[in-house]
Amino acid sequence: MGLFDFFKKKPAAPKVVVEVLYPQTWENGEAPVEPTVLAAEVLQPTPGEAVEIQVPSHIVAEDVAPVAEVVETVETETETETAVTSETNLDEGLTKTRKTWSERWNAFMANFRSVDEDFFEELEETLIGADVGAQTALQLTDELRNEVKLQNAKSKADISRVIIDKLVEHYRSQGVNEDASMHFAPEGPTVILFVGVNGVGKTTTIGKMSARYKAEGKQVVLAAADTFRAGATQQLQAWGERNGIPVVAGAANADPASVVYDGVKTAIETNADILFVDTAGRLQNNVNLMQELAKMKRIITRELPNEPQEVLLALDATTGQNALQQARLFKDSTDVTGIVLTKLDGTAKGGIILPIRNELHLPVKWVGLGEQVGDLQPFDADDFAKSLFGSLLIGDDK
Ligand code: GDP
Repeated sequence: MGLFDFFKKKPAAPKVVVEVLYPQTWENGEAPVEPTVLAAEVLQPTPGEAVEIQVPSHIVAEDVAPVAEVVETVETETETETAVTSETNLDEGLTKTRKTWSERWNAFMANFRSVDEDFFEELEETLIGADVGAQTALQLTDELRNEVKLQNAKSKADISRVIIDKLVEHYRSQGVNEDASMHFAPEGPTVILFVGVNGVGKTTTIGKMSARYKAEGKQVVLAAADTFRAGATQQLQAWGERNGIPVVAGAANADPASVVYDGVKTAIETNADILFVDTAGRLQNNVNLMQELAKMKRIITRELPNEPQEVLLALDATTGQNALQQARLFKDSTDVTGIVLTKLDGTAKGGIILPIRNELHLPVKWVGLGEQVGDLQPFDADDFAKSLFGSLLIGDDK
């Protein structure tokens, strides 16, 4: 059975080990066109490298064949429809993060002797290890020094309570200018532009989010303006087909701006409520990328003066501090209105939400909790904090 048949026969997210082979995709000495499926875990895999990947069910073998060869099948999952219709709840999606937080926390508290400088240093390291970033970890530790004094906390249980309370407070607190709601045009199409580097989950998020809005009765259109990444258009078309949503696409390597233009026209002509625009995210060429995004915005605004209402930056939670770097870059160059934090199900850290809000002051609007259509949720800070720390608050009171 060839690779193609393999995927055709088992379209339900098989896990495979692939060998990366894409010599023909190197272009003019530039970084390679990232293989569609590998993009998530291995941004620039080395030819010949063997990596294990989860192949999303909507991706067909053509997307994989030119860039990778299956070496070994690790595991195949058989469920299809059920996974697509069921929603991953936050508790399920945060399982890895919660488990790691509580393990780290228990290990940290097991070492507790007294509240001294060593204790706070260790606390700071624990926080950095959970991806909250150096600046936020320092700020939190400083606040906790005061809080511990203020509350005269001395016993292990008291200290634990003070720290967890502070963490919960930080997760729950909204930034001053933070608006986590989605904005829609009072009439005419609303445009939601997705930006972010390759592999962070833009296309997947559009697939999920468009299905969600369609289910709420909105008429949606997708524009496949990521004409650079091999397979991106087909990937979006597959989502469109599956959810009965029209997709406007151009030829391979077409000017993304022309696809955006066609998308806007289609949205206006068909009286659509929402147009989702997928864009390319070539990291190796920031200047061009930002110019391209600016051009797309100009085209949208020329046709629909109040659009785009939303410029959502997708960040991959599993990339930790890299995600912060990307956010800084995009924030400086485009008017990002909010963050979609993807792959929270795949990280054991989850602390990244704090520096995004503390240091960048960008609202997290959505969280991605898996690859299926139901695995996207609006971000609710309260629920998030409860899900992450609930067990610690109850369990650590000895
Ligand atoms: P893009 O290049 O930004 O458009 O990224 P894609 O949408 O192609 O996503 C890259 C990979 O990440 C794909 O394999 C997706 O299935 C996967 N992915 C996207 N969002 C999530 C998520 O929330 N959780 C998990 N586990 N995988 C995701």
